[in-house]
Amino acid sequence: MAVMVTPGTASTDAKAGTAPSDAVVLFGRGDLSQWEGAHGGAPTWEVRDGYFATEPGKGDIRTKQSFGDCQLHVEWATPNPPHGQDQDRGNSGVYLMSMYELQVLDSYNSKTYADGQAGAIYAQFPPLANASRPPGEWQIYDIVFHGPRFSADGKILRPASETVFHNGVLIQDNCVLTGPTTYMGRPPYRPHAEKMPLLLQDHDHPVRFRNIWIREIHEPAP
Ligand code: MG
Repeated sequence: MAVMVTPGTASTDAKAGTAPSDAVVLFGRGDLSQWEGAHGGAPTWEVRDGYFATEPGKGDIRTKQSFGDCQLHVEWATPNPPHGQDQDRGNSGVYLMSMYELQVLDSYNSKTYADGQAGAIYAQFPPLANASRPPGEWQIYDIVFHGPRFSADGKILRPASETVFHNGVLIQDNCVLTGPTTYMGRPPYRPHAEKMPLLLQDHDHPVRFRNIWIREIHEPAP
């Protein structure tokens, strides 16, 4: 018999939904108590009514808890009115395991390079579709992520893979990552733990986040 999980409720633009009963709620309505600065210490991003926002120049934040294989739900909204062009327009990012970026960007009627737009696995794979909502509207990423596995001597046994729905539209279909995210190039995997913090990027734009929850995926017993 499968374990019973009470489903959450769906979000509307006006109101965030709720998490499934077995999820770890990383941001519900209240505070950033589940988070810390990427270099330690309390996060300095501002929390407002039901959401928080990137504080430009204050650096990335990451979860205190570490996660590996997971189902992750993140809601975000880019600034309205929009500012800037290309990559300089509502840029942030969801870094699985602090290393693998799913791009957050204002890609609504705004051009940039294909593997840098919203929903791209940054610098590796463009999204299958651009399902962006206008600036200021709440958008949703639902992510299924399987982290890489390494042998004891550091060889890659299984690359990371990621499936993503953007506002309910499939945009990454079990995409196999080439390695960690960098600005340019595709560096190879380097060994790391099976669980690492989730990280949100400060890319100097005030991008909002709300209703973040995660469910760990446990491999079935053999
Ligand atoms: Mg980014």
